[in-house]
Amino acid sequence: MFIGHYALAFAARPRVKQPGLGTLIFAAAWADLLWPILLLLGIEKVQLLAGSRQHPPMDFLSYPWSHSLVLDVVWALLLALVLSRGRWTRREQVIFGALVVSHWVLDWATHRPDMPLWPGGARYGLGLWNHMAAAVTIEVLLFAACLATYLRATRARGRAGHVSLWSFVAFIGLIYVADVTGGPPPPSVTALGIFGLMGWLGPLWGRWIEGTRDPVEA
Ligand SMILES: [Zn+2]
Repeated sequence: MFIGHYALAFAARPRVKQPGLGTLIFAAAWADLLWPILLLLGIEKVQLLAGSRQHPPMDFLSYPWSHSLVLDVVWALLLALVLSRGRWTRREQVIFGALVVSHWVLDWATHRPDMPLWPGGARYGLGLWNHMAAAVTIEVLLFAACLATYLRATRARGRAGHVSLWSFVAFIGLIYVADVTGGPPPPSVTALGIFGLMGWLGPLWGRWIEGTRDPVEA
C-alpha cells in the first residue's frame, strides 16, 4: 500500500495529544523509510521486471529488516521508547507502535506472498494487487475516510493550514496515480532506492501540517 499508510496516520492524529502528525506519518511509513536505505546498501533485495504487466513491476526478493512482522514489532517497541522519551502516555505509545506494525498488515493485504513473518520465515500476502480495481478502490476509500476524520478534528490556522495539507495530499496523490496507472518502471535498483528516499518528505510535511493546523475543541 501507499496512501493507505498515510491514511492511518491521519486517522490516529485526533486520538493522541502528544505525537504530532509528522511523528505519526513517520511511524506508519517507517518500513518504507528504512527500505530504500537498505536497498541502496545492498542489504535488502528487489528484482525489477522490465516489460512485465505485473503491478508493481518488481519482485520483492528479500526485505526482512524493513518488512518482516517480527522486526516491525521490534522497531515499534524501540522507536516508541526512543521517540517518546518518557513524555507520551502509555496509550500514545501503543497507538504509535500500532501504526508501525500496521504497515505490515496493509502491505500483507496488497502484496503477493512476499511479506515474511520473521527474517527467513514463511512469507504471506493476500495479493490484492492482482485485482487492481479492488485494491485501488479500497485504498482510496480508506484514505478518504481517514482524511475526513482528520479534517473534522482540526482547523487550518490561516492559509498555510490549507496549503500544507492539500499540497501533501496532491503530492502523494500524484505519485499514487502514476504508480497505479503503470508509469515507466525505474531504470535500476539504485534509481528506485533514490526515488524511495523521497518518502522522508512525508514526516517533514506532516510536521509542517501539524504546525499550521489547530485541534478543534470538542
Ligand atoms: Zn511497505
